[in-house]
Amino acid sequence: MIKATAPRFCPRKRCPYYQAADNPITKDGTYTTRTDATPRQAFYCTQGKHRFSETAYAELFGKHGSFKEYTQTAKLTQYGLATEAIADVLEKDPHTIQGWQEAIGAKSRQFHLFLCMAVGISLMALQMDELWSYLRKKAQQLWIFIAFEPHTKFWFNFTVGPRTNASASRLLIGLKKLVHLLDNQRVRVTTDKLAAYRHALTKHFPAQSYVYLQIVKKRWHRRLVTVKKCFIHGTSEDFPEKTQNTSYIERFNLTLRHSISSLQRKTLGYCKSKTHLERHCDGMVREVLLCRVPPWPQPAGV
Ligand SMILES: [Zn+2]
Repeated sequence: MIKATAPRFCPRKRCPYYQAADNPITKDGTYTTRTDATPRQAFYCTQGKHRFSETAYAELFGKHGSFKEYTQTAKLTQYGLATEAIADVLEKDPHTIQGWQEAIGAKSRQFHLFLCMAVGISLMALQMDELWSYLRKKAQQLWIFIAFEPHTKFWFNFTVGPRTNASASRLLIGLKKLVHLLDNQRVRVTTDKLAAYRHALTKHFPAQSYVYLQIVKKRWHRRLVTVKKCFIHGTSEDFPEKTQNTSYIERFNLTLRHSISSLQRKTLGYCKSKTHLERHCDGMVREVLLCRVPPWPQPAGV
């Protein structure tokens, strides 16, 4: 149960009191639209002296759909349907659906950030992995780097990019802004053998703040032959028996492959736009899709 309230602010960019902190926002009745019978809350910006709708806080503001259609789009997207298929079901243009999906993703990301900051998360265990995908053709590889908490199954952060040190660093920099490290406890980090994680950890985490285990898997003709545990930082005593693996994040990767159409294997619905993929990932993880909370100002670089 989380009890957090976000301060309301004026969402109108043209208003001189846009996002101002000392500008009281009051409720000002409800209204319905021609396409949507669900009542929407109206607010009043006291200093800017104008009304605005609660939907002005969402990225979907100004798009001509109903709450129901947005929810349906969000759900169908999560079931792994391609944009064209959703457009067919809802009898809309694929471009319209794509616009909605991107807006839903952006809104979900804001909500995720708000949640992380409102709760104040202490990081105790971390699993990191990367997921292969491609942009238009297989030669153009796109990797999704994921930072994941195995106990709560909470997906903190991800980045989409090449399989390099820079991508791993971006992942950790983003993560550091969302969590705080405990003084008396070291974070248990497990990853696969990719050197980029080690590089990024040494660069962005203080040496005394984590213990690090690499799981090195050897395959022969696609068959798993050996699993070796390399304790890079710390010893096996630092890792309780059941934490010496990357199983949770690997299972999670399969969930993602199943639910994101552009990550499915051997399909024509592969990824055609990096931004779209990022937004889709956002919508996938973020806990509540069309939650009616004001967005939280985004910290730079997350
Ligand atoms: Zn205003």
